Amino acid sequence: MPLLVGLQPQAFVEVPQELADDKGIKNGDRVRVSSARGKLEVVALVTKRLGPVTLAGNKKVYQIGIPIHWGFVGVSAEQNPEGSKYWLANALTPMVGDVGARTRAFERARADAPDREDLAAYAVRTALPGVMEAAVAAGTEALREATLLRFHHADLEGLIEAWLDGDEASGTDTFLARASTQPLLEALPELAAQLRSADASDRYCPRCGGLPQVAVFPETGETLLTAQRTLVCSRCANEWVMSRMTCASCGETSGAKMPILSDVDLFPHLRIDACEICRRYLITVDQRKDPRAVPVVDELAALPLDLIAAERGYTKIARNLMGF
Ligand SMILES: [Zn+2]
Ligand SMILES: [Zn+2]
Repeated sequence: MPLLVGLQPQAFVEVPQELADDKGIKNGDRVRVSSARGKLEVVALVTKRLGPVTLAGNKKVYQIGIPIHWGFVGVSAEQNPEGSKYWLANALTPMVGDVGARTRAFERARADAPDREDLAAYAVRTALPGVMEAAVAAGTEALREATLLRFHHADLEGLIEAWLDGDEASGTDTFLARASTQPLLEALPELAAQLRSADASDRYCPRCGGLPQVAVFPETGETLLTAQRTLVCSRCANEWVMSRMTCASCGETSGAKMPILSDVDLFPHLRIDACEICRRYLITVDQRKDPRAVPVVDELAALPLDLIAAERGYTKIARNLMGF
């Protein structure tokens, strides 16, 4: 990445000539690109390589192109630390592209009701193919390549068993196991309950013993001081209440040891709850500030916050589907 940044120092968006004319954008202008999930500020590269597409006979649609991950490290980021966090294409497009595969897996599991012994084999047979297909069709190039490798070589049942046992695997293995197995556990709470070990502490999911993925202040109409904090399980999507003054990883209760980090311009409703004792953190979604927020989706979109946490040496309690 630092070498690439040497060749092309800043992120850019390729804009079709016709769209640029329409919006009064000239080559080299700084432009803002935004989606429902985030925004970028990058340089415009006006191009004739991309033309409009006409849909349904009359609807004209333009495509733009943004290089992924550009310049958040290297020379340009060092020169412009403020700006570089607005250069990540991922900020616009969290990967929630496998919704179709997950919904099918969820419904089918309800009907088939596999038991604990068959769970890994069942996931490989029924849910994993759809997840792999989605990863190959819509994933990043790295995910696509890694998925194809797994498809040909890996012990897929072993990969899912390991995830069920809570082993930290590579990003791709965790993604595949989790995307295919989580909908099954969500569909079958009694099955999820069989994963919980008897000695699991109350900082784990009370249903399956999994780690929390994200914390939520729900939109309840309560005041700031009385609002309860809910944690969402990374394994079975169960929700449970945990005191907001307690580290969700190590149980620390001293507020002075638990810094809160945020970027209120970028994400007014999101923040990092970190812990200096165990060096772990969790993203918190405040639905009182944005009632439309969908915790597990907004958690994926919080990548710039993940980078802030990583810079300060914190690691997330449970990595999300994107591997952050
Ligand atoms: Zn759980
Ligand atoms: Zn802690």
